[in-house]
Amino acid sequence: MTTHHTPKTSVLDTIGETPLVELDGSPGAVPVYAKLETFNPGGSVKDRVGKHILEELLDRGKIAPGGAIVEPTAGNTGIGMAIAATRLDLEAVFVVPEGFSVEKERLMDALGAEIVHFSGDGGMAAAAQRAHEIAKEHEDAVVPQQFATPLNVQAHYRTTGPEIREALDGEVGAVVVGVGSGGTLTGIARAVREQVPDVSVVAVEPAGSTFGEVLGREREEGPYKIEGIGTHDPDVTELLEPAEIDDFVTISDRDAHAEVQRLAAEEGHLVGSSSGAASVAARQVAEEIAAGEREAPHDTVVTVFPDGGERYLSKNIYGHFDAWEGKA
Ligand code: PMP
Repeated sequence: MTTHHTPKTSVLDTIGETPLVELDGSPGAVPVYAKLETFNPGGSVKDRVGKHILEELLDRGKIAPGGAIVEPTAGNTGIGMAIAATRLDLEAVFVVPEGFSVEKERLMDALGAEIVHFSGDGGMAAAAQRAHEIAKEHEDAVVPQQFATPLNVQAHYRTTGPEIREALDGEVGAVVVGVGSGGTLTGIARAVREQVPDVSVVAVEPAGSTFGEVLGREREEGPYKIEGIGTHDPDVTELLEPAEIDDFVTISDRDAHAEVQRLAAEEGHLVGSSSGAASVAARQVAEEIAAGEREAPHDTVVTVFPDGGERYLSKNIYGHFDAWEGKA
């Protein structure tokens, strides 16, 4: 379905229209399709968000060319925003918490962004606070706030969701997507629901994350290694609407890691750990639909592979589980 057949004038024109590929690991009766977001120029789903948010902020006069965006981000959003910033004449400053992959930081740096390391307590909320302080020091700066801005959801409502709908001629039974900010899940779910009102929407988080509490699920908080999804503070994002989510499943580090390796070795997909988690969850949902244990309006499941495995080589993603977990 990729339609980039004509010459483009900007790398921003290559964002989106990513392929949707059936996974071999699906149960035959209910195929699982994965949207391969590694095909974006910055290698992740967040290129869509970076482009959309920055273009809209400029269009709406929230910032002028020459101004700066300051965002707390662990990486992919920063890369996506930095790519857009290069083409839209904006400065990019990112407040990067500790513990995330060094590859992402190098890429943000290569794209000309300024990196501010953040090592304080308080996770993303505290990093956001720091971003606001930095923005105040600039003459013309905004903090786009991917965890709060409806523009994050809108990027997926306008692009990712419709692409999925079209690729499957509206025959979408379930959408199974990992949740970090919730923008991908919410935007896709809203777009697909317009055509398939009873599509089953399943959110995915790492075991140890506590997003499920928004649906009243019991969660035991704990550490996890899966990168890009999950939280220890379910209030971190304003983009999840409990009424729009049918189910919330947890996937362990061990299962996600094993799936990352299986996807590479058996299916040729070089993806990160949030894709591994999404794949395990999507295959489970497909099996439940096939067994008549979960209702879905069509016999198909769609998931998203948000980014690639090369981004996590320094974290031993293709090594032994203990090496990846940092125990070896
Ligand atoms: N996977 C990865 C690798 C990510 O970087 C992100 C974004 N944090 C996600 C999944 C989740 O996407 P969203 O923020 O749209 O929920």
